[in-house]
Amino acid sequence: MSSHIHRIADRMELLDASGIRKVFDLAAKMADPINLSIGQPDFDVPESIKAHAIQAIRDGRNKYTQTQGTAELRAAIAERCREEFGWADALERPYLITSGVSGSLLLIMQALVNPGDEVVFTDPYFVMYSHLVNLSGGVPVPVDTYPDFRPDIDKIAAAITDKTRMLIINSPGNPTGAVYTADELRAIAELAGKHNLLVVSDEIYDLFCYDQPFVSMAAFYENTLLLRGFSKSYAMTGWRLGWATGPAAILEKMTMLQQYTFVCAPSMAQAGGIIALETNMSEQIAAYRQKRDMVVDALGDTFGLVKPGGAFYAFVPAPAGETATDFVTRAIENNVLIIPGNVFSTKDTHFRLSYATSEDKLAEGLEILKKLAKTGKNRNRELGTGEKQER
Ligand code: PMP
Repeated sequence: MSSHIHRIADRMELLDASGIRKVFDLAAKMADPINLSIGQPDFDVPESIKAHAIQAIRDGRNKYTQTQGTAELRAAIAERCREEFGWADALERPYLITSGVSGSLLLIMQALVNPGDEVVFTDPYFVMYSHLVNLSGGVPVPVDTYPDFRPDIDKIAAAITDKTRMLIINSPGNPTGAVYTADELRAIAELAGKHNLLVVSDEIYDLFCYDQPFVSMAAFYENTLLLRGFSKSYAMTGWRLGWATGPAAILEKMTMLQQYTFVCAPSMAQAGGIIALETNMSEQIAAYRQKRDMVVDALGDTFGLVKPGGAFYAFVPAPAGETATDFVTRAIENNVLIIPGNVFSTKDTHFRLSYATSEDKLAEGLEILKKLAKTGKNRNRELGTGEKQER
């Protein structure tokens, strides 16, 4: 019999981690996996950033900072925005330094979503979106972007109702690697403007853009809640640092909520963040572009992969006749760890491959995946089961 002590709040029922847990359970049995499932860079934080954070600790900057973040880091971010967007009032706008972009997302959902409110985002999506919307009593509304992961304006428009509270976009995207063009962002801006809708733009992968310069939603639409991070760009995932800017009334409520939840982002990480903003990462980005090309060269034809333009993921169709979960199970049996698409989507047709690993490991993993695709197809042909294979 469960006692009151162990009674869990009903809202926890709304979180479902079963998909990813299954993968991790399988992965735990692997001795030395070729791990293509990781959502963080394989390079380390640049030395200058580390040195500055260490010095901050030595200098005694170990106390709470202001809730909204240190004045120095906010000023550096404001300057960055002035350069990037040409905002004349960049220095006067509100900025909130958060505990990662995850911190921002929680504050946004809690501050803006009433029970029954709908939050529209493109599918496939970053898992946290649906979980946080659910946790806030809202209704996640995923909009299908298969097979090429472009944002289809008609489909997004059809998903908007009078209950829609916000639209979340994520370019470059996790898990697809899709990068939105200026035209696509303009079309989204026009649609959002027509409905007077807030657009939350998760730009955590902004530096990882391989075929064209990165363009931000904030350049096209005033009512953008812009989210940026340090986790991916500078490999600072464990430092828990991100930032947000957007409509002042919203930033104000997020800041108030941060005061009573996270209090502030880590002080030493904020010190390091100032140096991060001045750090040139083009070498690391070039290495990731090369790995992206390796993935496209290896899997493009065999799997019919749509070339991803950014982030460090490819979202690859499972071979015909096989669900993603079945293919991922075979991959794991063959020592390659990837994640089935149903963790990020209402569909189970694709798998996410992260190329944030060494070239050697990546090459090894790609070779195995290619072989598996071929044996899978042969097996189907032998069995004569064609498209449908018994489960
Ligand atoms: N948004 C997206 C799209 C992500 O992929 C991630 C990390 N996986 C986050 C937000 C959160 O990152 P962090 O909290 O480390 O800034």
